[in-house]
Amino acid sequence: MSTVAQEIELLRKELQEHNYRYYVLDEPQISDFEFDMKLKRLQALETAHPEYYDPTSPTLRVGGAVTKNFNTVRHETPMYSLDNSYSVEELIEWEQRIQRLLGTVDLSFTCELKYDGASISLTYEDNILQRAVTRGDGIQGDDITTNVKTIRSVPLRLKVPFPGRFEFRGEIILPLEGFTKMNEQRLANGEDLYMNPRNTASGSLKLQDSSVVAERPLDCLIYGVTGTGNTFTTQWDFLETARKLGFKVPNTARVCMTMKEVLEFLEYWDAHRHELPYETDGVVVKVNELRFQEELGYTSKAPRWAIAYKFKSEQALTRLRFISYQVGRTGAITPVANLEPVLLAGTTVKRASLHNADQIARLDVREGDMVYVEKGGEIIPKITAVDLSQRPPDIDPTHYITQCPECHTPLVREAGEAQHFCPNDTGCPPQITGRIQHFISRKAMDIDGLGSETVELLFQQGLIRNYADLYTLTKAELLPLDRMAEKSVNNLLDGIAASRKVPFEKVLFALGIRFVGETVAKKLARAFGSIEALMAARVEDLIEVDEIGERIARSVVDFFSDPVKQELVRRLQSYGLRFELDPEQLQRGTDLLKGKIFVVSGVFVGLSREELKKRIEENGGKVASSVSSKTSYLVAGDKMGPSKREKAEKFGVSIISENEFLALLE
Ligand code: AMP
Ligand code: ZN
Repeated sequence: MSTVAQEIELLRKELQEHNYRYYVLDEPQISDFEFDMKLKRLQALETAHPEYYDPTSPTLRVGGAVTKNFNTVRHETPMYSLDNSYSVEELIEWEQRIQRLLGTVDLSFTCELKYDGASISLTYEDNILQRAVTRGDGIQGDDITTNVKTIRSVPLRLKVPFPGRFEFRGEIILPLEGFTKMNEQRLANGEDLYMNPRNTASGSLKLQDSSVVAERPLDCLIYGVTGTGNTFTTQWDFLETARKLGFKVPNTARVCMTMKEVLEFLEYWDAHRHELPYETDGVVVKVNELRFQEELGYTSKAPRWAIAYKFKSEQALTRLRFISYQVGRTGAITPVANLEPVLLAGTTVKRASLHNADQIARLDVREGDMVYVEKGGEIIPKITAVDLSQRPPDIDPTHYITQCPECHTPLVREAGEAQHFCPNDTGCPPQITGRIQHFISRKAMDIDGLGSETVELLFQQGLIRNYADLYTLTKAELLPLDRMAEKSVNNLLDGIAASRKVPFEKVLFALGIRFVGETVAKKLARAFGSIEALMAARVEDLIEVDEIGERIARSVVDFFSDPVKQELVRRLQSYGLRFELDPEQLQRGTDLLKGKIFVVSGVFVGLSREELKKRIEENGGKVASSVSSKTSYLVAGDKMGPSKREKAEKFGVSIISENEFLALLE
């Protein structure tokens, strides 16, 4: 084996192991930085040596493939649903029923938590992940393999050999921490918030662009398998083996010898489930012995050998003191319920979300009411109902505010929008400072030395009224301010100066165009290349771009047709910020040659050989040095060696000219 092949193999092994330690065991051994360096090295080697392609390489975790339509495929065995029970009595009835059917009381149970996400079926053949399919209607689902491959806790290759063909069954979940982070990001982008982790997880799996899926902190928990015949004797045995194979199997599962133990398990988790990093909506009790499972079989809809016990959602009753209204960076108004403090699922709750005016009207919630507060997956609990029997006699219905609580401008509400807005975007203080705070944030201009409080201070002192003003700040203006020593002033000014080098897509994100988050900004920057081109784009042009819909397109057009915004952009340009892609980046970024392997040989007239290779890679293709059966095209120039041509003919590889190559890119 060549040294390159050895290095690639070693890196893949190491990265697989670190991945496993990090995402399955949650016990990282190396820093993220070291991990990224190794991954980059492997990516570079794989690009230079496409002949060592491996469908299980850890580099696939970053995604890239785009699926326009997911294929429908049939499950080898159906994905059943579960019968539900809501009380201890129902569980005991279930136990008696199966004991009767089996003619024995001599059986045990496995209790697992019921993870609240999207079901998935993972087919492995001879240790390699072949495909991943959603539950769909239970008989057939969607093939979402490219997306699932980006989920780090799904092994692309089993850790221990387990030959044969099996479908592992599990749940794709979005842990609460990741969900909260995603929503914080949405809030910063002025987008509607995701409702709950479960819907967000299943929505993520259906995204077309797998590199976006790769950025979502999804996780996969395994609870079952089909097609293993007599490999296992109990469910417990299976769970332990699955863990050894490299799957993530929560260690919350237990074997229970009696129904009494099952009930203890239920009681324990009913009280402690909020300590888990993800949402659960109950417990699944399964007959542990697989021979009994087989004997009991299935109804048309669910296994007879398992039953789900649903947790009751946690509620608390407390008094609504008053409703306050927050103004976001985009001017969106959010009503907040300020409550008499109450204990809910282990934490004291003082505030709850009321979402919008419709929600308040629907609940007919009034200041002074006793209200039910519930904790779902959201960060902030929500009000679900009013206890009308306890309503004080003469309290007034809630009149939603009509003016901005900060600047007193009459609010507007556009057709089809749930939220009210303060339209005074250039004069409303929280909108002004909110936009500047967004501009300097880490994922935008990333200005060191300038925090949210400093922004407030600079605004109050009249030194900045918009983000362009940051670039005119001087030492003389800053030094007299409170808490502004020479050193922090220098830091701040250095940070501002350094931000001139921030790439175009981040500048675009920093502008704070509604609905233009990080990913959309990247897509727009790639598609249009410069601010001039983007400012000239019409709605029709914008929706041509992958995943840019009408809503985003309109928002972009509105933003740039506003003279105030145009002036801001002109000023930022005059301060030297970057408003176009690097010339190199400009050409990059199509998938036209994805999956194709090229060999370039001979002398060319138009492009140099190096330029040709670069074009291939920029458009998703791979360059190899020698012709093999895997080669897709041989790009032939003058004076190409005869042996290359012979090989190409032998393997049936298409031989194309420089012009034919360029035509491939059109
Ligand atoms: P339901 O959708 O209510 O019919 O419940 C069935 C679903 O529960 C299955 O499709 C699984 O995706 C999910 N589930 C979550 N956790 C488990 C578990 N530990 N064992 C079996 N199914 C589970
Ligand atoms: Zn306002």
